[in-house]
Amino acid sequence: MSDYDTVSADVEHEEEIPEDHPRYQDLLTRHRIEKGVENGITHLQGMHAEGRGSAFDYLLGEETIPTADDAERAAAAHLLLADHPVLSINGNVAALVPGEMATLADVVDADLEVNLFNRTPERMETIAEHLREHGATDVKGLEADARIPNLDHQRAKVDEDGIYAADVVLVPLEDGDRAEALEGMGKTEIVIDLNPLSRSPQVADVPIVDNIIRAIPNVTDHARELADADEKRLREIVDEFDRETALEAAEERIRNGF
Ligand code: ATP
Ligand code: MG
Repeated sequence: MSDYDTVSADVEHEEEIPEDHPRYQDLLTRHRIEKGVENGITHLQGMHAEGRGSAFDYLLGEETIPTADDAERAAAAHLLLADHPVLSINGNVAALVPGEMATLADVVDADLEVNLFNRTPERMETIAEHLREHGATDVKGLEADARIPNLDHQRAKVDEDGIYAADVVLVPLEDGDRAEALEGMGKTEIVIDLNPLSRSPQVADVPIVDNIIRAIPNVTDHARELADADEKRLREIVDEFDRETALEAAEERIRNGF
């Protein structure tokens, strides 16, 4: 047994995870989710979601495949073209990439909105505070003064001046029902999900099949690079992206390894 095998169980701070460990990203992801559960940010269900994601990421080779990079670039173009872009945050997203989401919101001038499947006032507030500690200036979702039509659970609750009014929404690790309902509202939907067969990426305008810890910084890089591009160029990037090709390429990689 190598020293590495003992890393995940008893690590207290993420700095203790050796960056040259062959499964570094996976260990880091697991560690952040565990901390999220401990700190009341992530629901226990989020750990199961993480486990499923981890298996798909292993099969993808734990890297951003070329079609995921295309999707991330198209996502950046959509966010820059939007009148009112909103980035949706749940318990896993808050645990994994709080600062990265705040940075992206800043770069594309989007709102951040907390939206939980297992919604409690305490968890909403804990997550909003966690985001603020990581640089978010304005966090939406606490008002919950509007409802997404055709959705009868807690997830229908949104802010009237946030997701409800948005033209482009980024919804990472979203459940299928809510992704479908948002699509039904006519919004341009960007989904990040490691499972290309899950309903959420299947209904998305831009399905990003990649680990969120790689995807968000890469969307931000593309957005920075495209900051001065004119509308015509941004529209070209959006039009060139083909969602079916991206979904098929990801499934091919997972099933056959190429
Ligand atoms: P359904 O098909 O109804 O959507 P599901 O199995 O997708 O069910 P959910 O809890 O709705 O279950 O979704 C969790 C999803 O999030 C999974 O598809 C999983 O692959 C994905 N996921 C988990 N962790 C990450 C991550 N770090 N980055 C990207 N996607 C992730
Ligand atoms: Mg899903």
